[in-house]
Amino acid sequence: TPPSAPAFKPVRRWPLKLIMVDAYIGLGSNLDDPQAHIIRALEELKQLPGSCLVGRSSLYVTSPVGPQSQPDYINAACRLGTELGAHDLLEQLQAIEHCHGRLREGEQWGPRTLDLDLLLYGSEIIDMPDLKVPHSELHRRCFVLQPLHEIAGDVVVPGHGSVSDLLAAADCNGVRKLDHD
Ligand code: AMP
Repeated sequence: TPPSAPAFKPVRRWPLKLIMVDAYIGLGSNLDDPQAHIIRALEELKQLPGSCLVGRSSLYVTSPVGPQSQPDYINAACRLGTELGAHDLLEQLQAIEHCHGRLREGEQWGPRTLDLDLLLYGSEIIDMPDLKVPHSELHRRCFVLQPLHEIAGDVVVPGHGSVSDLLAAADCNGVRKLDHD
């Protein structure tokens, strides 16, 4: 993270929904000590208003998708019980990315300090220009499916089947669990 990056402060937004939704978030980083970015982001997710981090996967080392001339990624997934609406949650995720020095003008699938994706929001299907849930690539990406499977094997990805079945159908060479994180 550049020394000038501001500390993350959750955006306060009301009202909360007063209903807890199980949201699953995918985390990825491949720049500037990726492991530290992921661990710090998990701590920041714990601080989100009306939310509680109820599970997280191990960290995984994964080969880059897209341009190959970039470092391997560290990926993880976590489960958040949250009263935030889906768009408010997305806004919070983007605020965390910003605090990790994430720049958006890079090439698509290029290296990044932190990428947070809203993978699932309860069993909702959201198809808006700025928010697609389930995340549009979730069902075919091993670097998402493998960590997600650790905490949500039985969970159904609306329109695609269970995480277990999706993982069984995927070819997950290039995804390796870290022994320690
Ligand atoms: P990325 O390069 O993966 O960080 O893509 C970020 C863009 O994807 C943002 O403009 C978001 O509005 C959009 N987006 C659409 N659906 C999602 C989602 N489920 N989670 C995160 N970003 C999303």
